[in-house]
Amino acid sequence: MLFLDFCLVMEQIQATTKKNEKVELFANFLRQLIDKELPLVCYYASGRAFSKISPLKIQMGWSSCQAVVNKLTKYTRSELSSFYRKNSDFGSMVEFALNKRKPQAQPLESYFSVTKQEPKLTILMLNEFFTEIATISGKRAIETKKNRLLSFLQLTSPLEAKYVTRIITSDTRTGFREGLVLDSIVKAFNREKEEVEYAHMILSDIGKTAVRAKDSKINLFALKPELFNPLKSMLATKVETISKALEAFPLLICEPKIDGFRAQLHISKKECKLYSRNQEDITQGFPEIIDDVSIQVRHDYQNTIIDGEVVAIVDGKPVFFQDLLTRVLRKQEVEESILKTPCYFYMFDITLSKGESLLNKPLLDRKKALNTIPTLKHLEIIRYKLLSDETEIKNFFQQMIKRGFEGLMLKDPHSKYLAGKRGKNWLKLKTSLPTLDLVIIAAEWGHGRRTGWLSNYHLAARDKNNYQVIGKTFKGLTDSEFQYLTDLLNSIKTSSKSWGIAVKPQVVVEVEFDNIQQSSKYESGMALRFARIKRIRPDKSVEEIDTIKSVQQLYENQLERQERSKQSQ
Ligand code: AMP
Repeated sequence: MLFLDFCLVMEQIQATTKKNEKVELFANFLRQLIDKELPLVCYYASGRAFSKISPLKIQMGWSSCQAVVNKLTKYTRSELSSFYRKNSDFGSMVEFALNKRKPQAQPLESYFSVTKQEPKLTILMLNEFFTEIATISGKRAIETKKNRLLSFLQLTSPLEAKYVTRIITSDTRTGFREGLVLDSIVKAFNREKEEVEYAHMILSDIGKTAVRAKDSKINLFALKPELFNPLKSMLATKVETISKALEAFPLLICEPKIDGFRAQLHISKKECKLYSRNQEDITQGFPEIIDDVSIQVRHDYQNTIIDGEVVAIVDGKPVFFQDLLTRVLRKQEVEESILKTPCYFYMFDITLSKGESLLNKPLLDRKKALNTIPTLKHLEIIRYKLLSDETEIKNFFQQMIKRGFEGLMLKDPHSKYLAGKRGKNWLKLKTSLPTLDLVIIAAEWGHGRRTGWLSNYHLAARDKNNYQVIGKTFKGLTDSEFQYLTDLLNSIKTSSKSWGIAVKPQVVVEVEFDNIQQSSKYESGMALRFARIKRIRPDKSVEEIDTIKSVQQLYENQLERQERSKQSQ
């Protein structure tokens, strides 16, 4: 299948606002594909080059792509940026610039003479190109990638270039995201929505889900978690009081909430791998945990997946989460870090036990299976208590806080493991005031001690498909974190301002604040008072941040509390 056919379908999809028509168009297209093309097209339509859980990453941002287009068309960066500002659509900017190239631009002899009449680029060829770009590494990787993209775009038509860059920058603009791709798979292969959603929950890979759904002999509900195919993590909802948790479930599994890094351990006879909550392979960062799983344990527990939290412990207390980040991000410091801050894997759940899926078993049964795993030097099972009495839970909570934990997790003993779901079956009870997970959408250049760093961050909550600023802060971070954020934000810059930069909404931070005020300063009408960043959350994606609705809810709770305290005075 030609990539141009994909582009034409996407154009039709973009042209209609009707969800059903979008799904119908894409479902028809999916039916025409061979098995090798099917997963690729599902990734492309969801705005990515590879599966979410693939180790392959293109790692080229908007500014690299813009530099290539600038070279190819001779439009200056500021001309391209001003086009982008008008449309907020990178792909259309590329298409426009290629269609209306300036006279001294690079010759595009190949596509005007060959591709225009006889398009050559197939879906499989594009996959080869993306794989090639993703595997370029080394000091000059970015330059090499840019050169490769430049020569590749010389062979594509403007329309193809529009979609190639849309995929690279994960900006599809077709109103077509993973949810609608799933609906199209349902329609294309006559499946029930629930079974396709279940398969996707297990596989976390839209392409694999499509291939399994296409095979009518496969019972999707019988799929099991697969080794080295990381599951999405089951998540918890905040609860304000123990009595509210007991109202939901009269009996609770109570265990410490550990301030660490969510991870899952996959054990096969041959090897062990550790994955983050974002389903990235983080095995390299934690050799002390991996090496602990001996040949004997691998033999006895082969085909097992364990869920837990990696935590760094020094002098018997969990140390700050940020220390773990360097392990995940910078491999070379691992040896040194093992001596300074050894890490431990605290296990609290098991989803696959010696080949048997436990996803649909009640949590209490999963805990029993987990308890058979031997405790090792760097692997421990979290001890839990089964409690129904408010005072007993309160005492346990106080004990855990004293021991340096973040709070308690309160879980329904009968609950199934719902991968990727933030349900009400797991509740989290924390000590401190509530925090908000927000995304940085812009940053200002710092002054004084912070000169050279991007440091005043504009923090936004989600409002449907948009983001609304509710506060700014430069508080709460160390120098190395300022440096880390400066590099990271610069790499996702969308435009430069006199005061700083605007960035792609991608970096999530957990924010503490004193209270929420009504304010005309921001469009949202609300502002955080004394906001400070509690921690950077690379483990959280922008889809998981708090919404304007939840901020409003917090504001109302705050008013209620203030009212109550006035009345009691
Ligand atoms: P939060 O990051 O505040 O949304 O809280 C959810 C996170 O708490 C999970 O993703 C885990 O990383 C972490 N966590 C710590 N201890 C536990 C536990 N005992 N059970 C489940 N999750 C836990």
